[in-house]
Amino acid sequence: MPEESFNHETFLSPFTWRYGSKEMRQLFSEKNYRAIWRKIWLALAEAQQQYGLLTTEELQNIKKYSAESYIDLKRAHEIEKEIGHDLMAELKTFAEQAKALTEGGVDLLLIETMFSFEETTAAFEGAKSVTDLPIAVSFSYDRGTRSMMGVKPKDVIKRYSELGATLVGANCGTTLENMEAVVGEYAATVPNFPLWVKPNAGVPHMDIETEQGIYDMGPEDMAAYAKIYVELGAKVVGGCCGNTPEHIAAIVKAVKN
Ligand SMILES: [Zn+2]
Repeated sequence: MPEESFNHETFLSPFTWRYGSKEMRQLFSEKNYRAIWRKIWLALAEAQQQYGLLTTEELQNIKKYSAESYIDLKRAHEIEKEIGHDLMAELKTFAEQAKALTEGGVDLLLIETMFSFEETTAAFEGAKSVTDLPIAVSFSYDRGTRSMMGVKPKDVIKRYSELGATLVGANCGTTLENMEAVVGEYAATVPNFPLWVKPNAGVPHMDIETEQGIYDMGPEDMAAYAKIYVELGAKVVGGCCGNTPEHIAAIVKAVKN
């Protein structure tokens, strides 16, 4: 097989979906994911049948009932609405962690790299139920100025400033420019609220030789943008993925002056 027929550009692994290409994001979109999972289940059922775990009749039955036309999407959405999402189970799990951290002597709780209101609120309410420690809530806007779940910065700052977060912020994400837009949206929605801002050193790309992730933003880039974030209202600035001690040193030097 010629080498160039199978490389990182021609093959998109399912695991590239988060920082992956536009095509991969479309593939895993809300519209497609049920159909994709149906195909995965069917492929698994076929493998099970090959190894004698399912009879041919059972496989036929699964195929018949998993045909696209059989799934009533409208009804499926209604059922999801009716049963809701078990927030309490998650909340208790987060409360347990927050309690252990509080007893261990931490000074602050950080709920970071969040994408959805459901999970974040479970973590926040769980933590609040067991501790008086300050809590920072930080979303990751890895679709630019939207989270993976489509959450907007203005809705995040409204919700968590009202719920009593000490700091609201953003970490990880995409570019430093997009982070500026996010911080601007936070500041415009709830003026003077303390903000926490910790971007990646850019969007990583793979060095095919070393198979290492490469981040293009250097210490000076991070430092220049950290100043902008502080001017917009950030009270805590730093760096997430791809930042080295040099990046952090440059940020400190820029914002302490
Ligand atoms: Zn990160």
